[in-house]
Amino acid sequence: MDWPQSTCYLNGEWLPLAEAKISVLDRGFIFGDGIYEVVPVYYRQPFRFDSHLARVERSTGEIGLANPFDPAGWRALVERLIGTCDAGHQFIYWQVTRGVARRDFSFPADTPPTVFAMTTPFTRPSPVQREQGLRAVTRADERWLRCDIKSVSLLGAVLARQYATENGADEAVQFRDGWLTEGSSSNMWVVRGGTVIAPPRDRLILEGIRYGFVGELCGRLGVPFEVRRLRKDEVEGCDELMLTSATREILPIVALDGKPVGSGRPGPVYAKLRAAYDEAIEALRP
Ligand code: PLP
Repeated sequence: MDWPQSTCYLNGEWLPLAEAKISVLDRGFIFGDGIYEVVPVYYRQPFRFDSHLARVERSTGEIGLANPFDPAGWRALVERLIGTCDAGHQFIYWQVTRGVARRDFSFPADTPPTVFAMTTPFTRPSPVQREQGLRAVTRADERWLRCDIKSVSLLGAVLARQYATENGADEAVQFRDGWLTEGSSSNMWVVRGGTVIAPPRDRLILEGIRYGFVGELCGRLGVPFEVRRLRKDEVEGCDELMLTSATREILPIVALDGKPVGSGRPGPVYAKLRAAYDEAIEALRP
């Protein structure tokens, strides 16, 4: 395996990524018992960091795990991590698991969590992705019922994304009982008649950090914004479809199950949101 030449953080130590090791009894490895975060960094500054910190607090709280750091502690860790990497744009990944214990389903008592964090140079979405868009396929949402927790148990997401890959697509658009939920690792945005429509923030989707951000941008741009459940036929017959995530930012989906979405080209609402997203990134330029 080709290890990136990078420094990472593991349980209080700073060491080369290739040398970071955890026990096979770590509950993250054994049970997928932990949570994670992905934070984009532009011009060496984390983007919408407070929202990420709020989500860590929520994710750890929902699984009964103590958040290992307060906001100042996370900020110090992330700033030091950014300093270990030359790239201006990076993405930080961290995960917190319920630590190392004898294999038993119940929570172990007094076991310190495992805390791991790394940074990677971030190659932003390419001009081709931005200007030509992505292809997606629809799929039944077969994940668990607590998709609101940013859990490291990601088998459902892995299988959904692999389904997309095997079908020549970039993302799977998932439906639970015929209602739109989200992508394998992205939130979905539907445009109908000029209005941006998003599925509600409930337990069936992860509230992406871009979920609140796109709502804010729509408000700022005067784009009508609605939150409601969407049937599959409404998605299939929409004018524009977009996805958002930390690493894909905001991208248009121009084909769904091999059929064009709207005009089959990135649409005008996407263009507005894309420009506003870029502006927010450029505001971090020193
Ligand atoms: N939904 C799922 C299932 C995800 O895995 C992700 C990101 O990984 C998102 C939505 C988007 O979240 P964010 O905007 O915080 O990257």
